[in-house]
Amino acid sequence: MGFFDKLKEQASSLGSQLDQALDSTKQKGQVNALRKQRAELVAALGEALVEQFRQQQVDVESLRPQVDQIFNLEWQIIELEKQIEAQKAAAQAAAPAPPPPGGQPAAAPPPAPAPPPVPEAAAQPAAAPVACPSCGGEVPGGSAFCPNCGTKV
Ligand SMILES: [Zn+2]
Repeated sequence: MGFFDKLKEQASSLGSQLDQALDSTKQKGQVNALRKQRAELVAALGEALVEQFRQQQVDVESLRPQVDQIFNLEWQIIELEKQIEAQKAAAQAAAPAPPPPGGQPAAAPPPAPAPPPVPEAAAQPAAAPVACPSCGGEVPGGSAFCPNCGTKV
């Protein structure tokens, strides 16, 4: 999923009812038009690059004007998306949703559980003490002989 698709998904998840009340529909149309334009420019850029490879005269700097145009479009898209989001936020602040009947206000979903901590032992494998097979005494990890009786472990 692309960056802009993600933006779009986030935008639509904020509530489609509000969209109808606002003129953000128009702005969304603009955003879509810009995205289409960008896709065309990207395609043209790709074609130009392929052609350069075909001619074995690859000169990426010669493509910079096209890339700049694409960057400019991306900037415009992001600015428009910001405006749409700001309008949505303003509309939500102006008309807060009433709490559901019968009690608890809508709760935010619980935060995702934190990943389990990496065990220390896994990070640095320290030799655990072992029991001496002869006297049963504790032999420090890494030792070859029991400190009590000298038996090789
Ligand atoms: Zn021992």
